Amino acid sequence: MIRLDKLEGIFGPTIQGEGVNIGMPVTFIRFYGCDFRCSWCDTPFALGKDMGGEYEEITADDILHRLRRMPVPCKNLVLSGGNPVAQQKNLDPLILTLMQNRYWMQVETQGSIKPTQTMMDHVNFWSVSPKLPSAGEREWKNWNSVDYLTKHLHPTALQFKFVVADMTDYEALKGRLGSFNFIQMFPIILQPEGQQLDESDKFDLTLYSKCLDDLYSRVRADFAFWRVYDVRILPQLHKIIWGKERRR
Ligand code: SF4
Repeated sequence: MIRLDKLEGIFGPTIQGEGVNIGMPVTFIRFYGCDFRCSWCDTPFALGKDMGGEYEEITADDILHRLRRMPVPCKNLVLSGGNPVAQQKNLDPLILTLMQNRYWMQVETQGSIKPTQTMMDHVNFWSVSPKLPSAGEREWKNWNSVDYLTKHLHPTALQFKFVVADMTDYEALKGRLGSFNFIQMFPIILQPEGQQLDESDKFDLTLYSKCLDDLYSRVRADFAFWRVYDVRILPQLHKIIWGKERRR
């Protein structure tokens, strides 16, 4: 059985708001449970019972059935969370079912847990977001799958996405990238932490633009470092369109 987040289990079509597939129409499948507790996580309801979340248990066939019955079915899927890979072999039947039914699959994970061989063989695109110090000390220390993924995946099938909240994150990222042998071949997406709220608790687009500009300025000033990487500075498109509301 697969555990989906009870609040947002399957929703769409909406847009992929991040990374190299930004703007792509997709349906999201939100998995329940995560081995991390990042300080700025924007899906705390999908992490675990300690964060107030709830899940439903469902089979791969039931998920397929639901996808087919959606008012506007979409063949592009984003398997997100939580951390979908944390469900390990329980996820394999779903990956096989979706592959056999010709869905395109992107998996979003932080890269703490090595994917199964079935996932490696059939997932079309991986978005891996190792954490930086602002996420928390335990999270920042765990980049366990980065070497494995870069050794076994093609550059068109994998991106790395980093939430850069401050200068400590930025310098930590620069310091750590050099310890990975193949990471230069893959897109490296930098995005500001996206929870800029104004006094009335609304998303502050002006402040967000300023954070993007600051990030761009840092990368530009350090271009001698970044030129050997496939670096891209991107916003979260869903934040620009919908602010802190959910993307439905
Ligand atoms: S890894 Fe992702 S889902 Fe898990 S706590 Fe961190 S931001 Fe949230």
